[in-house]
Amino acid sequence: MRRRGLLIILSSPSGAGKSTLSKRLMNWDPTLRFSVSATTRAPRPGEEHGRDYYFSTPEEFRGLVGAGQMLEHAEVFGNFYGTPRAPVEAAMAEGRDTLFDVDWQGGQQIRRSALGKDVVSIFILPPSIAALESRLRGRGQDSEEVIAKRMAKSRDEISHWAEYDYVVVNHDLDRAEAELRTILTAERARADRQPGLNDIVRGLNEEFEAR
Ligand code: ADP
Ligand code: 5GP
Repeated sequence: MRRRGLLIILSSPSGAGKSTLSKRLMNWDPTLRFSVSATTRAPRPGEEHGRDYYFSTPEEFRGLVGAGQMLEHAEVFGNFYGTPRAPVEAAMAEGRDTLFDVDWQGGQQIRRSALGKDVVSIFILPPSIAALESRLRGRGQDSEEVIAKRMAKSRDEISHWAEYDYVVVNHDLDRAEAELRTILTAERARADRQPGLNDIVRGLNEEFEAR
C-alpha cells in the first residue's frame, strides 16, 4: 500500500522567497508536484501559462469557481487566485506530495477542507521588513505601485504566522532550504504516514518466531 500524498502549504508575505524556495525543493525532490494556480493577474516577464499559473479572465475564473472546480480561492492584491481541485486529488491518489504557494486565506481553506489531515503548513518570514522591500524591488518585476500595495498587505499576511505548523525565517537561502528539507523528511517519517510499516514489522516478528 502506498502512503497518501502530503499537501505542503507555503505562505509568506510577497517577496519573502516562497517561489525561490519552492523551486529549490522541487530540484531536491523531483517527485514533488507544484500546484499550478489559476489567477486573473497579468503574467510577469518570464512566467509561462500552465507552468507558473493558469492565466485566466475574471469570467473564466468565475466559471471554474461556479463549477466547483476550485479547492480554494481568494482575492489577493485585487486579483483572484485559486487552486484547481482535480490535479490535487489525482496526486493524492497516487501518493505524491504537492506543494502549494497560497496566501493565508488559501492555507485556511485547504486546512479546513476534507484533505486537512494531510496538510503540512509552513510560513516563511523575511528577516526584516527592509529585506522584504529590497527583495521585492530586486525581483524587478513589479511597478512601484504594485510594490507599495504588496508591502502594505505584508503586515496582514504576517499576522497569520501562528496558524501554521512550522515557521522558517528566510535569512539565508541555503539554510532556509535545509530547514524545509528537514520538515519534509520528518513529516514523511511519521508513523501514520508509513503504511508499509505493518509489513516490515510483520516480517520482523516472523524472523523472531523462526529463531
Ligand atoms: P515570493 O515568491 O515569496 O514572492 P520570491 O521567491 O519571488 O518571493 O523572492 C523575491 C526575491 O527575493 C527574488 O528576487 C529572490 O531571488 C530573492 N530572495 C529570496 N530569498 C532570498 C534570500 N534568502 N536572500 C536574498 N534574496 C532572496
Ligand atoms: P503573486 O502574484 O506574487 O504570484 O502571488 C500573490 C499572492 O497570491 C501570494 O501570496 C501567493 O501565495 C498567493 N497565491 C498564489 N496562488 C494562490 C492560490 O491559488 N490561492 C490563494 N489563496 N493564494 C494564492
